[in-house]
Amino acid sequence: MVVILKNNATEEQIENIKNHLAQYGFQIHESRGVQKTILGAIGVQPDFDTRKIRILDGVAEVYRVTAPFKQASRDFKSDDTIIKIKDVEIGGNKLAMMAGPCSIESEEQIFKLADIVAESGAKILRGGAFKPRTSPYSFQGLGEEGLKLMRAAADANNLLMITEVMQISQIEVIEKYTDIFQLGARNMQNFALLKELGNTRTPVMIKRGLSATIEEWLMSAEYVLANGNPNVILCERGIRTFETYTRNTFDLSAIPVVHKRSHLPVIADPSHATGLRDQVAPMARAAVAAGADGLMIEIHHDPENALSDGPQALLPDTFLDLVNELRAIAHAIHRDI
Ligand code: PEP
Ligand code: MN
Repeated sequence: MVVILKNNATEEQIENIKNHLAQYGFQIHESRGVQKTILGAIGVQPDFDTRKIRILDGVAEVYRVTAPFKQASRDFKSDDTIIKIKDVEIGGNKLAMMAGPCSIESEEQIFKLADIVAESGAKILRGGAFKPRTSPYSFQGLGEEGLKLMRAAADANNLLMITEVMQISQIEVIEKYTDIFQLGARNMQNFALLKELGNTRTPVMIKRGLSATIEEWLMSAEYVLANGNPNVILCERGIRTFETYTRNTFDLSAIPVVHKRSHLPVIADPSHATGLRDQVAPMARAAVAAGADGLMIEIHHDPENALSDGPQALLPDTFLDLVNELRAIAHAIHRDI
């Protein structure tokens, strides 16, 4: 940690700051320039609350030099994490493509869409059975019946499945069916749920919270890792900003930032990031070019009548064309789909 003192800090204040740092267990390296005095606080304390120093008289700024996350960090593990599930790898050279409806609505719907997903060459079927809806009057999902239908549709097409878990009490039932848990944006900081998912060994994809910083998102990954589950995937799904022409603002730069800071794979979800069908393909192309380890895309054969997120669902043919374009972009950066 680096502590920059105010130009007019008194000797008494400097002593007090140094005493505090020593008391918190840091070694101190003092550098006195003509104008600025800088204290280097040496000793890694990932959970140290820098505000304890920032509020002291005479302090101008405090900067961390080590990240508060450990196991999620590139310093902890320099190689990319590759998560293997059956014959699918997430985080390797081949992009992990996840597609399917927002919600499982019926047997006919999920089988139709699973067939399209398989035809595209994607290996993972997405779909929600327990839905986090803004309104309590909106469709809440088919529950376990939806999981059964989805498992059958995935198996019939040799696909893996990913579905959202909203609360601890659902872990047991969902784990019977799914290959990957999806931890939704609204639950990114549900620490009790993160801990319980850390107690399983089923891979968990953590969606970035609606207004979460990248550091907060990586701290959520840290919760799962620290509780013993090494199979963590991140998913950028757009964040809330002042912009209103899109549902969320797709933070494309989060992809290279996560790759620099962490060894965990990062998937991009251009569907929730934009909320509108015509913006999904351009953002999907950009995400592949930016180095995403895979994509999650919502599709529907009858989006007008979809029970959730119809306006952002791609029609099957558009999706199939898009995957072909994405394959070409992946090849240009020496990857594959
Ligand atoms: C979803 O994937 O359907 C979903 C609800 O996503 P998010 O948590 O990113 O809003
Ligand atoms: Mn959705």
